Amino acid sequence: MIPPHISKEKIKSIREENENLSLDYIEKIATPILTELTEWANSTVYSKYNGRITLEIRLQESAEAWAITRPSDPMNPTIRMHVGMLREIYRDAFVFPLISQIIAEDSSTISNFNKIFKNLGYTFKSGVPRIPVSQQTELFKLLKPLYEKNRHEKLTDDMLASRFLMFELMTVWLFCHELGHLIQQHYLLQVIDGDEDISSISEAQDDLALHSKDTDENFFLKSQAREILADLEGVGLAVTYMIGKNLLSMPSIYMLLCAQEIMFQRFAVIYPDNFDIPDLKHPNPIIRSEFVQAYSVHFILDALVQRRHIATKGAMVDGMLYLSKRSSLMAGLFWANRYEVFDENNRPKFLRLSDEKHQESKLKYLKTMAHWIDEQISHIEPNHLMRENFLEYFQGLKLFKQPDSATSD
Ligand SMILES: [Zn+2]
Repeated sequence: MIPPHISKEKIKSIREENENLSLDYIEKIATPILTELTEWANSTVYSKYNGRITLEIRLQESAEAWAITRPSDPMNPTIRMHVGMLREIYRDAFVFPLISQIIAEDSSTISNFNKIFKNLGYTFKSGVPRIPVSQQTELFKLLKPLYEKNRHEKLTDDMLASRFLMFELMTVWLFCHELGHLIQQHYLLQVIDGDEDISSISEAQDDLALHSKDTDENFFLKSQAREILADLEGVGLAVTYMIGKNLLSMPSIYMLLCAQEIMFQRFAVIYPDNFDIPDLKHPNPIIRSEFVQAYSVHFILDALVQRRHIATKGAMVDGMLYLSKRSSLMAGLFWANRYEVFDENNRPKFLRLSDEKHQESKLKYLKTMAHWIDEQISHIEPNHLMRENFLEYFQGLKLFKQPDSATSD
């Protein structure tokens, strides 16, 4: 059933757009990215355990992804993705720069937002940032000649380059989230049927394992905490990927943050307009977003200092906060424009949920998650497949543990 705030007309036209995006094409452009990541995971992690991770890309329409382990053979797991999921990613990346530019040209949203940050050097007026040639992805360089032949006059190089950056980084982060489930060995914390030899974590929201709920009253809280831990592992691994590709600079960081925010907007569709903790395996995506954004700001700033791009964390902290808050704003507006009933009578869902009346219950949810994340880390830490991992660093940040602050600093 389509929730009432989602526009049926908009969904219909998105379905029509899908008809012009063949699954074969999407599979063709996503496969090299995912294959490279799989090879990296094998050489960095699984080869040390004489194991191998398998990537399974299925030509299916539904937008789904899984991390699959057989408990009898845990060092040979599978990451399965439906091309339908990759097509969602591609379509959003395709349209996001265009809608961002319309917002920049037809409204004062961005100029007002930039004023809050005193129009300092890191702010930008256009829909997407300028993307230097050094930040263009391999895929874009490969496909650029095709665009030269027949390009809409409004489609600038920056918009095209950011489209491909976003597609790549969103694909990378999704893969790394699934890899996070596997290298944190979440299957050890799942209850499975006695004679079944399969432990699978699906990103589909309606997939409830009732037998687990019946055996553990905190089943949903623990499962939600593990999703956030997979998100954070995904951030760390995606940043490692970006460093490997020389992409750790402002434009790519912004596109990564936007990609994450749009993914959360997608998952948020089925959640109610409140912060009651639902009986679902995945947390409210706004809670996931709060953790991911707060963690990304710290982690990326520390990575920039470590790589000597900046001298101190303080040198870029306002710039990172700008990118983080702007990505939330633009992803929320993008989603409202594309999918929601959005007019003078209907504010976007992400704005409704940021109303003052929700702040207390949101903070309570964040603190509850912080508690259960700690509880789950105590089981995950001894079993993490990478000796050098993010868990200690994350715990040092103490996110959402301060007595009465929604942010951690
Ligand atoms: Zn997950």
